[in-house]
Amino acid sequence: MSEITPYQIAIEQLERAARIAEIDPQAIEILKHPQRVIRVSIPVRMDNGSIKVFTGYRSQHNNALGPYKGGVRYHPNVTMDEVIALSMWMTWKVSLAGLPLGGGKGGVAVNPKELSKGELERLTRGYVRAIAPFIGPDVDVPAPDVGTDAQVMAWFLDEYEKVVRATRKGVVTSKPVELGGSLGRIYSTGYGVAVITREAVKEFLEEKSPEELTVAIQGYGNVGSYTAIFLHEMGFKIVAVSDSKGGIYSKDGLDPKKVLEHKKKTRSVVGYKEAKTITNKELLELDVDILIPAALENVITSENMKNIKAKLIVEGANGPTTPEAEEYLFKEKKSLVVPDFLANAGGVIVSFFEQVQNWTWTQWSEDEVKRRLEAQMITAFKKVVDEWNRLDKKVVLRDAAMSIAVRRVADAMKLRGWY
Ligand code: GLU
Repeated sequence: MSEITPYQIAIEQLERAARIAEIDPQAIEILKHPQRVIRVSIPVRMDNGSIKVFTGYRSQHNNALGPYKGGVRYHPNVTMDEVIALSMWMTWKVSLAGLPLGGGKGGVAVNPKELSKGELERLTRGYVRAIAPFIGPDVDVPAPDVGTDAQVMAWFLDEYEKVVRATRKGVVTSKPVELGGSLGRIYSTGYGVAVITREAVKEFLEEKSPEELTVAIQGYGNVGSYTAIFLHEMGFKIVAVSDSKGGIYSKDGLDPKKVLEHKKKTRSVVGYKEAKTITNKELLELDVDILIPAALENVITSENMKNIKAKLIVEGANGPTTPEAEEYLFKEKKSLVVPDFLANAGGVIVSFFEQVQNWTWTQWSEDEVKRRLEAQMITAFKKVVDEWNRLDKKVVLRDAAMSIAVRRVADAMKLRGWY
């Protein structure tokens, strides 16, 4: 398979935005390169007594607007190329959301499902010791991503505080609430995806109500499962969901909470009794109104774009659609892709709320978090729609969103005298 790499995609998207928004080429030249990429080796004592060495990365793409911010991914396919692309996408995400933050991302090439809890803890602590000199609450603030969760963040915080011999709650976000995490952070990405889907339906599929619309969701981890739960609450019919082991379909609609219970018990959505089994490929090509890829990058590509039937695609994952496929869907099928860095910004927005709470030693109520998150997502969505209208709806939504995001970073760099 010779699909283009995530970094190549990120560069292509940036170049398109530069043309459309007429951004100074000097700023674009700077933005094509991450400011710093750290590559570390992490020796871990395995349960059987042997030592295994894992490779980890942290890419700090741009901090013109504030400290680098972005998750840490544990996945066997993690590469430096991917981590750099993901860090660029974080720069656009925090910029579009109007946050005073920059873009960063980390990753370790490992399959966390194959590690024991003890091995996972030792790996996390080793990764933290290796990158500790380069991070901090006002320098670079990691968070979870694919394959990591609040427990990993708890070990992260503990190890970092041991290294610096001080309390530094704000070094990482999406911590357990007991350790300074924000209420609502656990479901914030999924809630944000659901809010953006609802807004996008109002804007682009206006004649339809949620009850008349069918949804398929690829991925049933933190993002996919909560997206399904909130969309279901809003009245949408979730007809298919999947995970890495396969998918399930029910034309009458699934109960997302029951599917989650099933997944917790059996580690997969497959086998859920009130549905028929389908493949991930079939899920993407289902005849549904709304498709939400919420797993990994590069799933809607030149290979399957002709078979995609959904009129609205909302990117819960980072980078699921290649530029070629996005352009094809827009031009040939009149389908719209709501880009990742708009649709899935709910996670990092509540991460920022967590940082604010940590800096001020306060705890906001869950209602306040949800209310502020929703308002911030809707503001970002409206900005993108306005820009898209200004561009006469001639470009993909991502181009409009990128124009806003890149311009804000370029302006900050200009004021700082970087070009
Ligand atoms: N990993 C999430 C993302 O891709 C969250 C990042 C964060 O909270 O810093 O947006």
